[in-house]
Amino acid sequence: MQVIHTIKQLREVILACKEAGKKIAFVPTMGNLHAGHLQLVSLAQTKAEIMVCSIFVNPLQFGDGEDFDKYPKTLKDDTRQLQLLGCDIVFAPSVDEMYPGSFNAGSDAGKAGVMQSQIVVPGISDILEGASRPGHFTGVATVVGKLFNMVQPDLAVFGEKDYQQLLVIKRFVNELCFPVEILSHPIVREENGLAMSSRNGYLNTEQKQQAAALYQTLQSVAQKLQSGSQDYPQLEQEAVKQLQQAGFKPDYIQIRNTDLSQPTSDSKQLVILAAAWLGNTRLIDNIQLSLQS
Ligand code: AMP
Repeated sequence: MQVIHTIKQLREVILACKEAGKKIAFVPTMGNLHAGHLQLVSLAQTKAEIMVCSIFVNPLQFGDGEDFDKYPKTLKDDTRQLQLLGCDIVFAPSVDEMYPGSFNAGSDAGKAGVMQSQIVVPGISDILEGASRPGHFTGVATVVGKLFNMVQPDLAVFGEKDYQQLLVIKRFVNELCFPVEILSHPIVREENGLAMSSRNGYLNTEQKQQAAALYQTLQSVAQKLQSGSQDYPQLEQEAVKQLQQAGFKPDYIQIRNTDLSQPTSDSKQLVILAAAWLGNTRLIDNIQLSLQS
C-alpha cells in the first residue's frame, strides 16, 4: 500500500493505473476510521482493481466555532487498518497541498479561504444540515470535486449516514458530468444502534449509552408512519420531546420524501432525518422507509 501526500505523486501513480487499464474505486474520508468507513472500503474493493482511500480533514466544510481544530487525526492507525484491508493507495494531503495559501496556520477554518472556484449546489444544500451549517455542503462538494479530479476514480462509495451529503454529491456529479459512478452503503451502527461516527469519540461512556436514544427516536417515528400516521408535524414534535427527555438538544427532526422534498399523504418512500446535540457533540442520523401501498 502506498501512502501519498502530494497531488503530483498521486497523479503519477493514477496515470500508471489508468495506462494498465485498471478500474479505480475511491472512498473519501476525514480519517479516524471506524467500521463504517471500512465497510465502504470493502464494498468499493469488490467493484474495482485499485482501491484509493483519501484521508483529509477539510477545513472548507467546517464553520466558525465548529470542531475543525479538535477533529481527531489518527493517520498512523488509519493507514494500518487500510493496509490490513488490502487498500492500494492512501491519499493524505496537507491543507496547504489542497488549498495553497488559503488556510494559514492559526486562522479560523473557513475564514481565510481564498478559493475563488467552488462547487455550489443551491436548494438541496440550504435545508436541514445546510440550514444549520451554512456553507457546509459547498465545502463538501468542492473538496469531493477536487478529489475526483485528482484520483479520477471510476466509482466512489459514500455512506448513507450523511444522507443529504450523498444527494448533494449525486446532484453535482450528474449535472457537471463527472465520469464517476456514485454508490452508497447503508449506515453501520454500534450494538446499541448508535450510528458509528468519528465524532462519537467526543462522547463519554455514559453519553454513548444515552446516544442510542437518537436511533430509538427515529425508529419510533418510523413505526408510527408504518402504522399509518400521516400527521408529519405532530410526529416531528413528539420526536423532539422524546429526544429532549433523553437529554438531547434537538437541532431538527424531519420527515421527508427521499429527495428531501416535503412529503404529502401520497408519499411512500420516506426518510426521517435528525440532528441533535448531546453535550458539546452534534450527532446526525436517519432512517429510510418504504410504506406499503
Ligand atoms: P467522514 O470521515 O465522516 O467524512 O465519512 C467518510 C465517509 O464514510 C462518508 O461517505 C460517510 O457517509 C461514511 N460514513 C461515516 N460513518 C458511517 C457509518 N456509520 N455508516 C456508513 N457510512 C459512514
